[in-house]
Amino acid sequence: MFQQIQLPYGFDALEPHIDALTMETHFTKHHSAYTKNLNDAADKAGVADKPIEFLLGSLDTIADEGLRKAIRNNGGGFYNHNLYFGTVSADGGGEPQGAFRTVLDQHFGGFAAFQEEISRLAMGQFGSGWAWLSANKERKLALSASPNQDNPLMEGRGFVPILGIDVWEHAYYLKYKNLRADYVKAFFHVIDWKTVATNFDKVINA
Ligand code: MN
Repeated sequence: MFQQIQLPYGFDALEPHIDALTMETHFTKHHSAYTKNLNDAADKAGVADKPIEFLLGSLDTIADEGLRKAIRNNGGGFYNHNLYFGTVSADGGGEPQGAFRTVLDQHFGGFAAFQEEISRLAMGQFGSGWAWLSANKERKLALSASPNQDNPLMEGRGFVPILGIDVWEHAYYLKYKNLRADYVKAFFHVIDWKTVATNFDKVINA
């Protein structure tokens, strides 16, 4: 049974950057629905016992086209939102520190350059989707964007997302309306860089 992460904060914890109603709707309606629909589809496909990372990396082994599509969309939605809600915090923002910061600086030439590049990808994603910071076992970082609930696990190149910016309108429209750029800027005030660094360590030590 796939389960939503338990939030270690209240829905209003990210105010004023991400408003409480958006957080509550996003978690209790959108993320909840992806999770339920994933569980239904995974049961029918006989893959409910598989880790989600494995499922998303081997979608082409699901023979039934309808179930494959359901697991791609809802499994992606389940995984992506567990990452999203798990890497934000009321104590977030600022810039990463320590060994992960060194890797980030080496790769992007500084935090400002990193922020500019991932923000550009988030803004450039036409319609619904995500912008990603991913890592692989060789300590390499990569930026990318995906439509819908797709993510780098589905690309099969060994990159695992360690931070995702949700740019579906449901992530920002109640507060920011059409101003996606303002939401992306605000999101940087709530990123929990300690957790992102932990995600990086898990990838390189896997
Ligand atoms: Mn979302």
